[in-house]
Formats: sequence, structure tokens, C-alpha cells
Amino acid sequence: MILKKSKEILREHILCNHCLGRQFGKISTSTNQRRGEVIRNLLRCIYPDLNNNLDLQKPCFICGDIFERSDSVITKINPEFEFNSFHLGTKIPEDIIRKEEMLKENFGLEYQENLKQELNRELGKQIGDIIGKEFKREKEDVTILLHPYDSKVEYLINPIFVYGRYNKLIRGIPQTKWLCRKCKGKGCSRCNRTGKMYDESVEELISPLFVEAAKGNDSSFHGAGREDIDVLMLGNGRPFVLEIKSPKIREIDLKKLETEVNAINEGKVFISGLTFVEKELVEKVKNTHLKKIYRAEISICLADEEKKKIEEFFNDREIYQETPNRVIHRRADKTRIRKVYKVLTSKENCTSLEIHCDGGLYIKELISGDEERTNPSIAEVLGKNINCVLLDVISIEEKV
Ligand SMILES: [Zn+2]
Ligand SMILES: [Zn+2]
Repeated sequence: MILKKSKEILREHILCNHCLGRQFGKISTSTNQRRGEVIRNLLRCIYPDLNNNLDLQKPCFICGDIFERSDSVITKINPEFEFNSFHLGTKIPEDIIRKEEMLKENFGLEYQENLKQELNRELGKQIGDIIGKEFKREKEDVTILLHPYDSKVEYLINPIFVYGRYNKLIRGIPQTKWLCRKCKGKGCSRCNRTGKMYDESVEELISPLFVEAAKGNDSSFHGAGREDIDVLMLGNGRPFVLEIKSPKIREIDLKKLETEVNAINEGKVFISGLTFVEKELVEKVKNTHLKKIYRAEISICLADEEKKKIEEFFNDREIYQETPNRVIHRRADKTRIRKVYKVLTSKENCTSLEIHCDGGLYIKELISGDEERTNPSIAEVLGKNINCVLLDVISIEEKV
């Protein structure tokens, strides 16, 4: 079968040994070049006068003899950044891919391997030896993208991810950079040409030092939920993952960065527990609802029997909460069910509550009822108008 098809192909096209052998690449484990050579020699014996395509002529119909020229792109590999592992990609011109597909169709070549696969494999071996780094199929530090037909090399440096927890010690700053609603970041009179709603954010106070240390070009801040702008984040801090893009240095000194970030942000933001993590943790951090403990100051002074009533009522209590009025313009309108595990009142302070609950519950609305969009609420239980005056997160569950 192989010989018959090879004969038909060579009757019409000039192929190099790589490309001839590759048409049957999925049949055996030998290299394509070796297989091509064997096929050609056998055909020469059987059909000595087939035609002169049996001789190795140039240029190869499919690859244009790229295997002979591949050195010219390999010598251009000269990465000027740190990495331990790489993956290889090759960019092949469309017309070559089309020729290969045409051949497959015309001659019914169901065991054809494509040129890209062979180039990746063959060049990957050579490059690994030359640069002395580990070849990896996933979670590689960098993808080296070769353009063998243009003798060009591109590097796609994968981000590094740093996990940590942050405390926000002042009110009035958002977690992440918040673009100006009017100009969407271009800069206008409303935002004083900054393009932002707020001068500072937790993200902007933390990220730049990391980007600088890693010689990256950008970053993304992924928080495990977020507190309102006017809410402090105290206690053990909120988990986050900082993604540093295109880092030229991967082994950054996290202990040193933690100290530096905390020194320049004293009294504003504090970070702790930094560690390198895999990309997968980003989605995990963003999507897990961690249980929380809040401290709230409310707008009325609770009588002793009201304190007792609240504590008794909000004991493993399910709360049905529609998206709050204040955020409905930017969040989907849906009803979420979250639990309040307990509410503790204070002996000394009649306006103070400690609320233990699931993540994702809006506390200001749990207190006010939000025009009956949150059920039940503290206002409803007491039959009074009550608002949240001040709110802090004092603890977040440890696990992520
Ligand atoms: Zn070829
Ligand atoms: Zn603006």
C-alpha cells in the first residue's frame, strides 16, 4: 500500500525524504526522513525506470527543502530573559499547508503527519540541546515561535502568578483600578485627565513593584471577591493572585517585595503570605465564596431585647438576596441564597454588630433590607429603618 501510493505521488511531485516519509508518519515510529529514504530505495529497485522524481531533486514540492535551511532560524534564537522550560511552535505559510492537504485528499493519505508536527519535533530536539532548557508540552515558561520560512523568532513569555493576602487599612480606595465612567480611561474633565474614578487602588499600590522586579510589561490583579470602597479589609486579609505578564525575570524575591510594598504603603495597604502559584489558582480564587466575619456600625442604638432578638433569629439563617439596588446597573439581577451563621451584638456598644456569613452576601442590604430585596433583614426583624453606617471585614476564611 505504502509503495503503491508513494509511486503515485512521486509520479506527479518531487518530494524530499522528510515529506515522502511523513505521508505515512502515523504508521510506524521511525523518523520520517529515514522512512522516506527506505521507500525511495525500494521503489528504485522495483521500478528502475519510473521517472527521475525517484532521484532526490529540488525543490521539494511541499516543504521547499526547509529541513536543509532550518539552521538559519535556529541560530536566531537568542532569548534575553530568564526561563527554565519552553514549548515550541512553528509558523508555516498557508500555501504550504494547502499543498499538504491537497496531497492528502488526492492520494487518500490517512496516515499523513503534517509538516508543522515534524518541524516542531525535529527543531524542538535541536533547540533543547542548544539552549539547555527543558522542553514542556504544558505549563512552559515560554513558547518559542519559529517562522522558519522568514528566519524569524518570536517569544511568547507566559505570566508568573503570585498568591498573597491583602489588608486595606484606609477607606475610600477601590480594590482595582477603576476607569472613569465618562471617558472610559481616555482622560476627561470629570476625572482630571487621569482616566480613573479614584487616584489609587489596592491593585495600583501593590502591582507596580512586582512588575518592575520581574521586568514585566503589565499585570492583572485577581481578588477573591472585593470589599466596597468604603469598607476596610482587616484581620488575616483577602486572598489575591497577581498575574505578572511577560516577565523577563521569573525568580523574583517575594519576601523582599513584601517588605518593600508594605514599607511604601504603610497605613494604607499591607500584604502577606506571598507564594508562587500556578495559573489554575486564578479561577479558583475568583470563584470561591469564602466565609467572612464583618463588623458593622448601624444607624440605631439597639435595646437589650433587640440584641437578643437579632442573635436568636440570625442563627444559621438563609437569606434570599436580590441584586442590590446600588449595584444593579453593573451586575446581573438575580436572587442569591446565602447563609448568616450568627450575629453577635456588643455589651459595651449598642450600635455594633459582628456578622458571620457566607461570602457573596451583601451586608449593607442585610442590615437595611434594601426595599425588601433582601429577605429577611435586620431592619425587617426589628421592624425599624436601619442602615449600615460603617463596615469592615475582620476575617476571611483561610482556605482557598
Ligand atoms: Zn519536503
Ligand atoms: Zn474621564
